[in-house]
Amino acid sequence: MSSADDPQTQPRTTSEGSTPFVVAVDGTSGSGKSSTCRAVAQRLGLAYLDTGAQYRAMTWWMLEQGVDVHDPAAVAARSGEPDLVSGTDPSAPTITVDGTDVSAPIRGDAVNGAVSPVATVPEVRARLVDLQRATIAAATSGIVVEGRDIGSTVAPDAPVKLYLTADPAARARRRALEEGGTDVAATEASLRSRDAIDSGRATSPLTITDGAVRIDSTDLTLEQVVDLVTGLVEEARLGAGART
Ligand code: C5P
Repeated sequence: MSSADDPQTQPRTTSEGSTPFVVAVDGTSGSGKSSTCRAVAQRLGLAYLDTGAQYRAMTWWMLEQGVDVHDPAAVAARSGEPDLVSGTDPSAPTITVDGTDVSAPIRGDAVNGAVSPVATVPEVRARLVDLQRATIAAATSGIVVEGRDIGSTVAPDAPVKLYLTADPAARARRRALEEGGTDVAATEASLRSRDAIDSGRATSPLTITDGAVRIDSTDLTLEQVVDLVTGLVEEARLGAGART
């Protein structure tokens, strides 16, 4: 069992002894998770962690080093080397690798095509899940965490778990627009390919975990999704307050 799967390694309390309030948001590629999570965190004064950016940063580093990203043993052997740091301010999230700002290159085609294979490697997942749990433990005001395995593996006790998705064609249109590209068909093919690998892998596959609320944003605006999620989080916060 990797530490990613071991509930014993999960930080359950902060140094003050209380459990940070976690909003766990999983879902398919291009479903609007990042825009939604950042907006909700900003509205509610919570920190924000983009775990996809960490898998992307790990992948960027592997490519820079000339590691064969389709060789799991080669990826596993180097996975402990890069120093990844995520800034958790939702108005300006940052990601650095060995001190270099990689927020732009991790969104390029090379990383898009290689990230899902890298993310299937258990050693990569174990390392990043440890990092994510440490960030959660330090977020004493609460945190919105987005990814694929947050509700199932990283923070299974999160009081709010959401699963965001949308029709693949709608996701591709939005993503192509965001990236300033016009090739919607190629974007849709790339999203579908990542979805298939993310859902089919052995370690922490993308799945709707027990207790998660599924939100299909195909026919909703970003504003509508943000309002919906903010309402769910506020309800859960009130419930948590009432129990203490
Ligand atoms: O969220 P984003 O699309 O940036 O994630 C990029 C890739 O990182 C995903 O397609 C998936 O392969 C991987 N990932 C993951 N687990 C997470 C977050 C992202 O496997 N918690």
